Amino acid sequence: MSGWGRTAWSETHLLSVDCDELVNGLAEQEPMITRGLGRSYGDCAVIAGGQTIKTNTWLDMSMENGILTAGSGVTLESIIEQWLPHGWFVPVTPGTRFVTVGGAIASDIHGKNHHKDGTFGAHVVQLNLLIANGEVLTVSPQVDSEIFWATVGGMGLTGVIISAKIRMIQVETSRMRTVTSRYSNVHDLMSAMITSDRENKYSVAWIDMLAKGKNLGRAVLSVGDHASISDLSKRDRKTLLDYFPKQRIHSPKWFPNGLLNNLTVRLFNELWFQKSPRRPKIAIQTVSKFFHPLDGVEGWNRMYGSAGFIQYQFVVPESAAHLVPEIIEMFVRAKCPVFLSVLKRFGDQNNGLLSFPLKGWTLAVDVSASFYGLSELLDEMDSRVVEAGGRIYLSKDSRMDPYYLGAMYPRLNEFLAVKIRIDPDHIFTSNLSLRLGL
Ligand SMILES: Cc1cc2nc3c(=O)[nH]c(=O)nc-3n(C[C@H](O)[C@H](O)[C@H](O)COP(=O)(O)OP(=O)(O)OC[C@H]3O[C@@H](n4cnc5c(N)ncnc54)[C@H](O)[C@@H]3O)c2cc1C
Repeated sequence: MSGWGRTAWSETHLLSVDCDELVNGLAEQEPMITRGLGRSYGDCAVIAGGQTIKTNTWLDMSMENGILTAGSGVTLESIIEQWLPHGWFVPVTPGTRFVTVGGAIASDIHGKNHHKDGTFGAHVVQLNLLIANGEVLTVSPQVDSEIFWATVGGMGLTGVIISAKIRMIQVETSRMRTVTSRYSNVHDLMSAMITSDRENKYSVAWIDMLAKGKNLGRAVLSVGDHASISDLSKRDRKTLLDYFPKQRIHSPKWFPNGLLNNLTVRLFNELWFQKSPRRPKIAIQTVSKFFHPLDGVEGWNRMYGSAGFIQYQFVVPESAAHLVPEIIEMFVRAKCPVFLSVLKRFGDQNNGLLSFPLKGWTLAVDVSASFYGLSELLDEMDSRVVEAGGRIYLSKDSRMDPYYLGAMYPRLNEFLAVKIRIDPDHIFTSNLSLRLGL
């Protein structure tokens, strides 16, 4: 198995079990890690030679007064499908709806609304956690809060999340009211984002990573909010709360290596930029189109060929905003054929001991793992990010030097203290935790 980036493969025993079987399995003291839908790009959801536990049997779901109780294997896709027609939406969604509740909590995922609403973990009211001694703990921000905040963003290393209670949000319609605008360079874009984030619940920018000179970091900014009934046309009001998942195109099983080179990517980026509206354009979109455009193509991660790809995602504090254009320039100078990248602004960080977001700017860049010199390039970027007080997203990582971990995650020792207390024999272990000494 590997992560979504299809790098760092390893052999593992993949098990689909119920809770009792899992408790028996714990008695065997073999290393294990839980896996949701494997949408993490790196090596956090697999353990070489150990047991990788699937959560696809824990699928119960019910709702009372806007609080959803869900098994940890329930996907955001099924939550949206079931509850959007009743006027409820997930409080935070990543760029794909194919993630599980367990994976969303363990990565403490963020969405386009982090600057307003924080991470997924901020909306978790309570969770049930199976720990290494076979006990199931019920933890929350009020009860056993240390274990709760070690588990939110804890990469599955405190135990197995069995189920969780999540506060949902109410919506009038199943559509989004969006505004798309384009910027000829990253400096104009970042100024515009600071202003527009005050008014908009959701905001994300797609950056052309090959443009240079005065067009360095040219971008398309997409902002929006849930549409109200009055935003919709008469025709759309007939399907007020209907959910329209985008038709999924199947990508071929095999792609030639080197398909994404400087020429093809430059051509794609140019077409994409020219197609975007010259003046700000208001539109009504479905939630799938606005939040999950990549879900329209199944298996797009195979496009990078047999070597796979790395998603390099970092965050830097607002005081180090200058690092965003600098890192874009480093990719340009290296002539790295990078598809579009995603820039977002984060709001305040939460109490998650290993949670990724901190107040500032985050850039996520997909790069083919076969690009010559990539390792040195990313190492150099890591050191710049750490120096600036930033960090790398562990759910995307498969290569970072453990040396940087403590500086990136200043509450690491608090996390390790909880880990030793509830999992002294390191039963919950992944390739990521072995690599980084977690
Ligand atoms: C196209 C795409 C877009 C994305 N966009 C975003 C984004 O905008 N924001 C963002 O934050 N992330 C984003 N991601 C990353 C993704 O949201 C996270 O990696 C998420 O954790 C994946 O969930 P999963 O169910 O696939 O979990 P997996 O990838 O299988 O596992 C992730 C982690 O969760 C742990 N885990 C899973 N289930 C449990 C459980 N029941 N108990 C304990 N631990 C568990 C695993 O051990 C692992 O450490 C994106 C990924 C893709 C492919």
